Amino acid sequence: MRNTSERSEVKVKHGIECRVDCEVDSKGDVFCGLCCFETEMPLTDEDVKRLEEVGYRKEDFSIVINGIRRLRNVEGRCFFLSSDNRCKVYNYRPEGCRLYPAILNSETMEVEVDKVCPKASRVKVGEEVKQALIVLVKKIYGQKS
Ligand code: SF4
Repeated sequence: MRNTSERSEVKVKHGIECRVDCEVDSKGDVFCGLCCFETEMPLTDEDVKRLEEVGYRKEDFSIVINGIRRLRNVEGRCFFLSSDNRCKVYNYRPEGCRLYPAILNSETMEVEVDKVCPKASRVKVGEEVKQALIVLVKKIYGQKS
């Protein structure tokens, strides 16, 4: 989920990301947010640390399911999703959120574009994003406790 005013800063801070225009109106003030509803986004230890450093408590924003820490939902929405469908922590959001809508299909183990995204047909996932996603999945499952 994009916050347009912060695009350039994000690129400097995080490097690889899968860029999607999440605006759903021509004025750029209505956002989709669909990918941030009922999120199951897993978190790396670095994601947790970064979010804690900007003042959030992991007990509030995350939950551990089967040994994997994931973003927590509040009333069906990511803890960090604002009422106007913007990410409150866009510059600090989890690595998986930056690579979305690229996802790893757990059955085929292929990187693909999540069909939940209304703009999926317009998204091209490059080799750099594919590799970053594979590294991320290995990291998350490697840190499983
Ligand atoms: S952290 Fe931000 S981008 Fe990631 S699911 Fe939550 S609201 Fe969406």
